[in-house]
Amino acid sequence: MDFGFTEEQIMMQQLTQKFCEKELDYEYVRWMDEHVDFPPDELWQKFVDMGTFYGAIPAEYGGQGLGQVDIMVAYEQICKRSMSVALAIGVTAGFGVRFINELGTPAQREKYLPLIGQGKFKTCMALTEPAGGTDILGAIKATAEDKGDKWVINGQKIFITGAHVADSLITVCRTEKEAKPSKSLSIIMVPRETPGVTIRKIGKISCHHCESVEIFYDNVEVPKENMLGTRGNAFYEIMTVLNPERIGVAMMGVGIISAIYDLCFKYVQERIAFGGPISRFQILQNYLADMYINLENARNLTYKSAWLCDHGKPFHLEATMAKLVAAEGARHAATFGSEIFGGYGICNEYPVSMFARDAYQIQFSPISNEMSRNVLMQFQGLPKSWP
Ligand SMILES: Cc1cc2nc3c(=O)[nH]c(=O)nc-3n(C[C@H](O)[C@H](O)[C@H](O)COP(=O)(O)OP(=O)(O)OC[C@H]3O[C@@H](n4cnc5c(N)ncnc54)[C@H](O)[C@@H]3O)c2cc1C
Repeated sequence: MDFGFTEEQIMMQQLTQKFCEKELDYEYVRWMDEHVDFPPDELWQKFVDMGTFYGAIPAEYGGQGLGQVDIMVAYEQICKRSMSVALAIGVTAGFGVRFINELGTPAQREKYLPLIGQGKFKTCMALTEPAGGTDILGAIKATAEDKGDKWVINGQKIFITGAHVADSLITVCRTEKEAKPSKSLSIIMVPRETPGVTIRKIGKISCHHCESVEIFYDNVEVPKENMLGTRGNAFYEIMTVLNPERIGVAMMGVGIISAIYDLCFKYVQERIAFGGPISRFQILQNYLADMYINLENARNLTYKSAWLCDHGKPFHLEATMAKLVAAEGARHAATFGSEIFGGYGICNEYPVSMFARDAYQIQFSPISNEMSRNVLMQFQGLPKSWP
């Protein structure tokens, strides 16, 4: 058994760490969190120049064709500095690339993948609707009507991360009126500028510099060739395409635990109470010890899922566990990190408060912690909570 990284991976880790410490210093991250709803273009361009968006793209489309472990090694460093930036990159470089590469036609791959690599094409995934994100089949009401050479889309999506800046809204809608629910959905790429598309901000406590918004579709017409994948088969296709997303979200949790742990470890040695540093109080050491253990567990599970994925082995349950352990570890770090910082723990001045707010976003997305537990047991043979 080998738990080590390769020399190339260590180099990539060090390079990205150096880059992130410079370009995502906490002052700048705080500025972004207070002033912008998506990473600014100049920061985006720096990630483009570093080759970030070529990572998962296959070599035949100009990319690096990296595996999940390689990608996670670099992604971990971004997640440790800003979950918003990690999310903003992930919605295009992660599932945007996977949707187009795995489901797209050769023409779609040739058209969009190089543009993504060059940082000129952003995507988002518009799946969730107001009626519910867990029960996808029961909740999706958005329709796309077949009008010969075009689709006409009507409906509403909610909580869609990065849709306000995306060039293409990768939209899941019902195309088959007569089919059973699991055979009724299709995926359609909708250019954001299409007449009839309206975006509305929601406002939330977390990830301020990568907003999630509502999308309204009012008789939106898109060409027939904008379909991704097989008509009526989206339910099964999104499940496969989205499985690796849990690994990326688990890494966001790892980043949050790691960042809060480092900030607290430093703070307890500097903060003085009753004539000495607060690091001597065992209760605070226990908080830190639990963070340390959670970090180790979450990180191991996340890299194990990535490794399984790279080796073509089943990784769905491991990725679900990784997401769960990382999300709950991040929430623990958020709670106890804020305790360690006392009053400063909830002040904008200290990054710990931003990480604490961000931790909430991964409790239910892309799968809730409750549903994760259900999935784990129901795949072991216990009765299912879904039809
Ligand atoms: C900030 C943010 C960003 C997001 N980004 C995106 C995005 O980019 N694209 C996108 O498509 N979606 C996105 N989502 C949606 C996200 O995936 C959903 O919020 C998530 O799937 C949960 O759905 P829901 O919020 O409707 O909760 P519900 O599905 O209504 O669940 C409510 C509660 O019921 C529980 N529950 C439901 N069913 C079961 C069950 N069978 N067993 C046990 N418990 C159950 C849940 O665990 C939860 O506690 C985002 C959400 C947020 C808030």
